[in-house]
Amino acid sequence: MTVRGRFAPSPSGRMHLGNLMAALLAWLDVRSQGGTMVLRIEDLDPQRCSLDKARQLVEDLEWLGLDWDEGGLEPDYCQSNRSRHFEAAFHRLEELGLIYPCYCTRAERLAASAPHASDGAVVYTGRCAHLTQAQRQELEAQGRHPAYRVRVPQEELTVQDGHMGPYTQRLDTDCGDFIVRRSDGVWAYQLAVVVDDAMMGVNHVVRGCDLLSSSPAQAWLHRTLGYEPPQFYHLPLLVDAQGRRLSKRDRDLDMGVLRAKYTPQELVGWLGWLAGVQKEPKSATPHQLISSFQWSKVPKNPILVGST
Ligand code: GLU
Ligand code: ZN
Repeated sequence: MTVRGRFAPSPSGRMHLGNLMAALLAWLDVRSQGGTMVLRIEDLDPQRCSLDKARQLVEDLEWLGLDWDEGGLEPDYCQSNRSRHFEAAFHRLEELGLIYPCYCTRAERLAASAPHASDGAVVYTGRCAHLTQAQRQELEAQGRHPAYRVRVPQEELTVQDGHMGPYTQRLDTDCGDFIVRRSDGVWAYQLAVVVDDAMMGVNHVVRGCDLLSSSPAQAWLHRTLGYEPPQFYHLPLLVDAQGRRLSKRDRDLDMGVLRAKYTPQELVGWLGWLAGVQKEPKSATPHQLISSFQWSKVPKNPILVGST
């Protein structure tokens, strides 16, 4: 089967080192197997995303030398233009009796959530799952606009991650009924990512470990909608010397700053070294790393990023 991989960034700001690592390894995974690379723009949130930021993102990828075979700024690969597909999947879930409106405010959601033992995330406990029609009408009459959740089964689900190995969650207690449409009408990432990976024929998903805990819910949603889940490959987090996860707040690792300091080959070579693909942080083009790329070389533990 031909590998179809993707990079699916959100144009909500400039890319940072973690995004670049995901982009490079998704690209190497595809290119080392003669596959097809898709670039999808996850611009669902109109408050945070813009076409200008998406243009910048595409230009940053080009500067790095990472190319793609399908997508980019083409309208049909930008999620903001794909509502009809999310709507259709939502209706399918409604027909299956799996959707219910949730009227909780953010504060109520947090109060009605159980802390998730493993990572401190909160799990929705189903506060609105059994509201009567009359209760819903009363809440609507108060002017509350619901978000919509999907009801997950009381099932344990194991994802066989291609890099991290088996990862198991009990869907109802570790994940909980999750939002597929926000109260402002914006489609939720969890629904959109599943629909788009399926519709775009993506069978390899390479991305950061921060999304590992979302993968059982996504695999379940794929199956529920009648799709085959992709093979997931999650990358270790990038951390600083104190073991803290690097984030968008580390401005010195944002693409604007990195581009001012490095050539594309220096940056790619450094990332390739951090990812275990080459033994030294020497300059390289993405193409020069293809022949030495192997998943077995990529670390599983967090990757320490020293000073730049
Ligand atoms: N759009 C997501 C992000 O930028 C990535 C989604 C994914 O790779 O599944 O973090
Ligand atoms: Zn609720």
